[in-house]
Amino acid sequence: MSDLDWNIAVEKIKKENFKLYAWIEHSKAVYVPESNTLNIEVPEYFQKETLLNKYKDDLENTLKETYGPTVKFNITVNSEMHGKKKSEKKEDKITVKSEINLFSPEARRPEPPKLNDRLIFDNFLVGNGNKFAHAASKAVADAPGQSQAYNPLFIYGGVGLGKTHLLHAIGNAVYAKNPDAKIIITTAEKFLDEFVRKLREGKMEEFKEKYRNTDLLLIDDIQFLQRGTSAREEFFHTFNELSSLNKQIVTTSDSRPQQLILEERLQSRLSAGLVVDIQPPDFELRVAIAKSFSKEIGVRVPENVLAEIANKIENNIRDLQGILKTIKIMAEQNKTEVTMEIALEAIKTKLPEIAETKKITVDAIQRVVAEYYNLKVQDLSSKKRPENIATARQIAMYICRNLTDYSLVQIGQYFGGKDHTTVMHALDKIENLVKENEKFKATVEELVKRISK
Ligand code: ADP
Ligand code: MG
Repeated sequence: MSDLDWNIAVEKIKKENFKLYAWIEHSKAVYVPESNTLNIEVPEYFQKETLLNKYKDDLENTLKETYGPTVKFNITVNSEMHGKKKSEKKEDKITVKSEINLFSPEARRPEPPKLNDRLIFDNFLVGNGNKFAHAASKAVADAPGQSQAYNPLFIYGGVGLGKTHLLHAIGNAVYAKNPDAKIIITTAEKFLDEFVRKLREGKMEEFKEKYRNTDLLLIDDIQFLQRGTSAREEFFHTFNELSSLNKQIVTTSDSRPQQLILEERLQSRLSAGLVVDIQPPDFELRVAIAKSFSKEIGVRVPENVLAEIANKIENNIRDLQGILKTIKIMAEQNKTEVTMEIALEAIKTKLPEIAETKKITVDAIQRVVAEYYNLKVQDLSSKKRPENIATARQIAMYICRNLTDYSLVQIGQYFGGKDHTTVMHALDKIENLVKENEKFKATVEELVKRISK
């Protein structure tokens, strides 16, 4: 065979691998039969680099499938291809149009930043786990770009812990104070996609200009940059330019800079300012967030149910919110108030892996104690103080402390959001009674037996 039709492979890639297609669309290829090699030419250095780093296997496989298993390929950069592209009929229109756009007043007017106005500092609850990230974000929002110590700010942590929330909160705060500020908020994934698109459309200048001409650059989920080598290069340059002009950059990530698979110089750039982590919220913060979110979506959730949710869902605030939404829907469908049963059902359907943990629950303790004393379970969480109710409540708290791992704070929350000192008082009182009164001791033992069954 003396020639190969490159277009056959291109068409195949277009159908089967659109991302790869974006990188070879403006290529051409010359076949050298002596060495059975396809010399692929692309217009941009970035393109070559990306094809080799990211799509080498994909490309190789397609070529072998199309032209046989022994075919080889090379990629070279041919910058003259830019000029040629314009004279080709089909692209003519697009290219010309893009040039007109670039210089039109419309193109220069900054787009309003794509901020989510629900994600603000006012509804970001602060507690153990996120207080440093919050304080740093506040400092940045108050004086963006003004302190080397906070620039760049790098926030990292697990899924659903509030990174995106803080990023938007910074943007919203800066935007509220100065609507003329040029703010870009994006994700690294969108940054990559945009990069690929602009490259394909031959609008790299526009891309560069946009990013290098900003006051506040907020990039979410920077770990996605691990994928795109050439966009990374561009990001690095943008980064350096913005830094040297004291423009503020904030990035978030699922892991610390050193754990990201990035060039060392980019890693060290990212961590040159302040690196803060967000840890999972502690129990009290989870309750507070659950409470505030139920208010936001308009569902009334009893304190003990909030405690159960906060107790079960430890590591992801988004899951916490998801369960509350499900509970709301289920209660509406049943036309009832939110109950513990509904909450447990919601957790079972939505997060079965969490629901499975078979431990003695506060709920079970409360049910057995309430039944024994002929009370309603709700009485135990109420503020009612008649002697019999108060004692039953205190016994239940005492048993919780002994049969579960819950802290005083957690137990208090299960009993209607009571203070931990109230729980402590109950424990002291019951402990004394158990010591002094045989009959009382027998009652408690009987209850424990029933609960453990
Ligand atoms: P991440 O970006 O870390 O995955 P998000 O910022 O998207 O997490 O947070 C997930 C959800 O939890 C969002 O709806 C967010 O508003 C909410 N959330 C996270 N942290 C808090 C907090 N401290 N106070 C109130 N809501 C929070
Ligand atoms: Mg996020």
